[in-house]
Amino acid sequence: MSKGGVFVVSGPSGSGKDTVLKGLFAENPDILFSISSITRAMRPGEREGEKYNFISREHFEEMIKNDLLLEHNVFVGNYYGTPRIPVEKAVSEGRDIIIEVDVNGAAQIRKKLPEAVTVFIMPPSFEELKRRLVGRGTESEELIEKRLRSALDEIKRAEEYDYIIVNDDAAAASQSLMSVIKACRLKTERQKNIINEVLEKC
Ligand code: ADP
Ligand code: 5GP
Repeated sequence: MSKGGVFVVSGPSGSGKDTVLKGLFAENPDILFSISSITRAMRPGEREGEKYNFISREHFEEMIKNDLLLEHNVFVGNYYGTPRIPVEKAVSEGRDIIIEVDVNGAAQIRKKLPEAVTVFIMPPSFEELKRRLVGRGTESEELIEKRLRSALDEIKRAEEYDYIIVNDDAAAASQSLMSVIKACRLKTERQKNIINEVLEKC
């Protein structure tokens, strides 16, 4: 069986990653999502185990010590990390998996899994990013400021990614992300079985 693909999705907070991914998963339930372990407080509307596992700092540090994380980073004062085993399991079972991480997490994954495909979700403008973050209404003014400062640093590193998708229209952005995944599924690397199957029946 050919291996599954690892797709790393980043973009500044408020660029619309969750919205774009929601659109993609609604149409493509076969694709897996890597649930991160994080130490920030749960926001209204979030649910344990849906996008994140909300854990204590002690628990997180234990995971680092036991080498249970593929990557981890501190973002605006909290730990965020990708559990290693579910990603390895998906790949070995031939399933595609999406990992949503910040730019530092993406750089760590690139080093460990050079075959991972990386995608940056870009807001149409900085003004629009600010409007979306304020409009989402999930953070205080101070936290929004911190996230906007971090956004500038992240956008400066968008060049490190294989693909950039501008999230102007969310449905179109979901389709673009799916196009990237579909193109990767067509790579010869992932279709070696087909070559053998056809040849065997000659
Ligand atoms: P992220 O996951 O990157 O932090 P979200 O998906 O939570 O971002 O989106 C931030 C806010 O912007 C949300 O209120 C969402 O509804 C809105 N949003 C996302 N994509 C678009 C878009 N293409 N056009 C307008 N608003 C959007
Ligand atoms: P939020 O608090 O808005 O949910 O996420 C803040 C930032 O953390 C976003 O840029 C998001 O992509 C990133 N993030 C989410 N999960 C992980 C993770 O497992 N590892 C890393 N490094 N970043 C993550």
